[in-house]
Amino acid sequence: MPKLPIPMSSPDLTDAERQAVANVMNTPMLSMGQYVKDFEQAFCERVGAKHAIAVNSGTAGLHLCVRAAGIGEGDLVITTPFSFVASSNVMLFENAVPLFVDIDPKTGNIDPELIKDAIENTKKYLPRKGANADAKIKAILPVDVFGQPADMDPIMKIARDHNLAVIEDSCEALGAEYKGNPAGMLGDFGVFAFYPNKQMTTGEGGLVITNNDADADYMRAMRNQGRAPGDTWLTHTHLGYNYRLDEMSAALGAVQISRLDEMLLKREQVAKWYESGLENVGGVETLFIDESTSRMSWFVYVVRFDATIDRDTLAQDLIVAGVPVRPYFAPIHLQPYMVEQFGYQRGDFPITEDLGNRSLALPFSGVMGEAQVEQVCETIAELLK
Ligand SMILES: *Cc1c(COP(=O)(O)O)cnc(C)c1O
Repeated sequence: MPKLPIPMSSPDLTDAERQAVANVMNTPMLSMGQYVKDFEQAFCERVGAKHAIAVNSGTAGLHLCVRAAGIGEGDLVITTPFSFVASSNVMLFENAVPLFVDIDPKTGNIDPELIKDAIENTKKYLPRKGANADAKIKAILPVDVFGQPADMDPIMKIARDHNLAVIEDSCEALGAEYKGNPAGMLGDFGVFAFYPNKQMTTGEGGLVITNNDADADYMRAMRNQGRAPGDTWLTHTHLGYNYRLDEMSAALGAVQISRLDEMLLKREQVAKWYESGLENVGGVETLFIDESTSRMSWFVYVVRFDATIDRDTLAQDLIVAGVPVRPYFAPIHLQPYMVEQFGYQRGDFPITEDLGNRSLALPFSGVMGEAQVEQVCETIAELLK
């Protein structure tokens, strides 16, 4: 049987989504209409948040949280270098400084013990350059990596003890639960993203949730060119952004959120196929799920290889064999612009670098079939023989 190419990821779309987008096209309101409001309402109901603010990317959502938390010039924000760059970039947008701490080697999530240490011994964690010696820590930004919530109980305790804001980057974890509570609802702000490879999509898009009325008003104003409640179209209380989500995307999102559980179950099934397909392949480790994760929300399927396996050569060979894979994550502190600004070096965050060196994201989506998963697993097994 000829083998078809396997996509890295695919959105899970039905006629309901196509119809919803077509319906918007039959109205004159392509932005700032009812669809965004309905999408936000549906989202609030789904996760139990008081406020949902839809925006045009997850990065925009994180940036609004940084602004709402009052993070500015020179402030330090404790975060993880094992993430997608956006979770740190939003600090740089405000000339604030990410204060990186390393991760738990099992989950890949930020290590709460190191957060505590970074508060008590801040100097030890400052970058070689680009930060003031007397800079103050303002917030913590944990990331729910690969769809597994960060260890939020100790993180929230540390934050409350030291009066720090917590921005939970749940862009990879919509639908996940930590000790029975929804990801994104565990800090002061939660952020989700809807790029087409995420658990649900709006094309481009993102959303912030919070229970704080004043912060919600401020973020709504800031996404809409700084127009505060009561402002007219050409009155701008604040210097704001255009971070608005359009109506087509919101209509798509409303259908997707109504299908979330169905889509998450399909993703879980694909993860199970991978788990059993890789069970007996030597040198390959599948994702560790902590007992605090009462519900996993599969975002990507990342495996770790033994240090004896040449991961990069294997990745090349897999791509040649028609299996797209990606090293995941490339550590943030080693990105060229981070090295230039802060002087980071290889070895600064050894656990992050080790996981980054040994991991690969395999093709993954809720619309993947069992035969495709088998094909990936068999190709890996053959190449490792
Ligand atoms: C996807 C993602 C984001 C946001 O991405 P956008 O492309 O801006 O929507 C932020 N943080 C993490 C960890 C992500 O995976």
